Amino acid sequence: MNATLTFLGTGTSMGVPTLACACAVCTSADAHDRRLRPSVLLRWREPETGTERAVVIDTGPDFREQALNEKLAHVDAVFYTHAHADHILGMDDLRPLSFIASRRGGPIPLYADAETTAVLEQVFSYTFSPRATYPTRARVELKPLAERNLVDGVEFVRVPLLHGEMPINGFRFGKAAYMTDVSAIPESSFALLQGVELLAISALRHTPHPSHSTVEQSLAWARRIGARQTWFTHIAHDLGHEETNRNLPGNAKLAYDGLSVPVRL
Ligand SMILES: [Zn+2]
Ligand SMILES: [Zn+2]
Repeated sequence: MNATLTFLGTGTSMGVPTLACACAVCTSADAHDRRLRPSVLLRWREPETGTERAVVIDTGPDFREQALNEKLAHVDAVFYTHAHADHILGMDDLRPLSFIASRRGGPIPLYADAETTAVLEQVFSYTFSPRATYPTRARVELKPLAERNLVDGVEFVRVPLLHGEMPINGFRFGKAAYMTDVSAIPESSFALLQGVELLAISALRHTPHPSHSTVEQSLAWARRIGARQTWFTHIAHDLGHEETNRNLPGNAKLAYDGLSVPVRL
């Protein structure tokens, strides 16, 4: 089955431009150097009914703007990689989409591991508390993230990763994988990535960082996985789009906000 993966945001936690920064990338006139917080959208059509399905991975603080850019009219499920602010703070902007989902049959399922669930329940207690009374709260339902999760016939496989000391989740779907905020890939996770043709993986900058891989590290993993095409995301203001891409191999490039690529499910 054919699907489309869209990069809703390709920036690091602070976004690019970064507040109060006057560096060459933050003041660049190239639209590719404007990066919202990291998130992707996977869309496909059900073969029999033609119904469009849409799954979002992470809802960061820019989710509303990203959904407007993509004219997102419904969401079937959300997966969370981890509970840092740049990955969860847009959850509340699911509200209008959740009312649509709720009228069609039920709340939007949010797949999250135990640690992420605990943070979401705390940050959005007015949504998740059993005593929540706020009438227009998001119609969403937290679901425990399993090793394999089925959404409308498509399997999302959890790929355990490390983000500094923190265990987080990447996701494999069909011949593609999305792995953001990664600083180390446990040996056992490489088996889950066999046959991945399209890899979307974070690459913060060239200088090492305790909880994020560099471009060189992510490139080495992409080679080991054997991806035909690799797109880098979660990019800091250290990397100018054009200059960085000029020095990268043809099959591994910086992604940019709004980039859509075909994937095989
Ligand atoms: Zn992040
Ligand atoms: Zn993070």
